[in-house]
Order: sequence, then structure tokens, then C-alpha cells
Amino acid sequence: MKIDYHLHTEYSYDSKLKALDLINKAIELKYDQIAITEHLDLYPYELSRFGLPSFSRYLRQVRSLQEQFASSPLRIICGVEIGDFQRVKAFADEFLAELEFELRLGAVHFLTDHTNVAVPLRRALSKADHEDYYRQNLTLVSNCDIQVLAHLGVHKRYLTQQPDEKHCLGLHRDIFQAMIDRRIALEINFSALRKPYARVLPDLWQIELYRSLGGKLFSIGSDAHLLEHFDLNYDKLPAWLFTGEVEFPL
Ligand SMILES: [Zn+2]
Ligand SMILES: [Zn+2]
Repeated sequence: MKIDYHLHTEYSYDSKLKALDLINKAIELKYDQIAITEHLDLYPYELSRFGLPSFSRYLRQVRSLQEQFASSPLRIICGVEIGDFQRVKAFADEFLAELEFELRLGAVHFLTDHTNVAVPLRRALSKADHEDYYRQNLTLVSNCDIQVLAHLGVHKRYLTQQPDEKHCLGLHRDIFQAMIDRRIALEINFSALRKPYARVLPDLWQIELYRSLGGKLFSIGSDAHLLEHFDLNYDKLPAWLFTGEVEFPL
């Protein structure tokens, strides 16, 4: 199975990737499934800056692409990446009830003090920041209706060294246990392979902890926003993802 369940196209404010180009490339590279997962950011600090695209138009566009490519072997999935769902839950639940996405990714982008950890950081994160970040992830996987936890550890993408986060071990156990109980897949996000960190996210010790607790459900995401980032480093993904021992959400 060749899959990518985390891709941004023309309905994401920060993407330059065209859905049609992506689909043609995915067919050429013999992908089995791709999920387009545009940003749904209802958190005020992003909403005020970037606004919202029309999600009904986005759904119509993907449906028409699904029809256009119905006879190709590629399955095109219409998904969404919900940013900071845990902080806007009541409104997001009502918003999402009107839209039929096939795949919901949940992602933490902000700390409590509104520091965006998905972009290059202006300051080093403290132990308390790490705890805050993982606590947000715990609330997300415990309370929100998502199928995939996206890019756990996104705050490390622009670092070169692996930070010491062992003080958050208890929080990790709680996050992974909640994910296992609620059948939420752990995304292996390989966007950091093209960034200074040069590792997949989450870190190996985090993946091993999830697996040691019985976690089998995984997702794979390039988080591409440019055509040249799609499929880049796919060959560097860990081999165990493709041995048939792991399950995928769709
Ligand atoms: Zn994200
Ligand atoms: Zn993303």
C-alpha cells in the first residue's frame, strides 16, 4: 500500500500545490490512496489572520475530482486537518456536522500562550512549554472526534538536536492510551525529513512507547504544500510500516 493521508492543496492558505497536479503525480508514482486534508483553523489567532475558505466548495471540488478519476486505481480521500480542535470544540463540532469529510486529522499548532509551534520558533521551549504542548494533545485525543493525530512533535521540526522530553513520559502514556481506546491513528509525519530536524515525527522513542502499549493504528503523512514535496523521502519511511503488522484508518 502506497498512501499519503496528509496533503494541502488550493483550499489551504499556505499551500501552492494544485489538487489536479497532485493527483496526476500520485497516479504516475503508483499511489493507492491519497487524502487531501485542507486546514480548518477556527482558533482566533489564525482565523483573524487567514480567514476561512469555503468548505462546501472544497467538498464539491474533491467530489468532482473523485468522479473524474473514478476509473483510475488511485483512491482520492476528502479529508481535513483541524487545528487546535480542543480549544474551539463546541463551534468546530457544529461546523463539522454540516460537512462530510472521510478523514479527520487533529493537530496542535499553538501553546496556551499563543506561541505557534508549527513555524520556526523565536525562543527555545522550556520544560513547561513541552508539558503544555503534550497536555493540549492529550485533551485533543481524549475529547475530540478525530481519526488521526497529526504531526505529534511538530515543535521539533526546526531544531537540529533531539530535545529531552522524558519529563513528559507520563503524559505520553496517557495520550497513547486514549488513542488506543478511541481508535485514533498515530501519524508518521515525514515533513521534518526535509527540515533541519531530519527525522520522522514523532520520535522513535515515542513510536516505540505507543507500540509497547499495543498501538497498531498508524497513518502516513508528507504534509506537502508544494508539488516537489509530495513523495519526497517516502523511501526513507521505516520499513515496519509496510510489513502488514500495522493498520491504517481507511
Ligand atoms: Zn499542522
Ligand atoms: Zn498539515
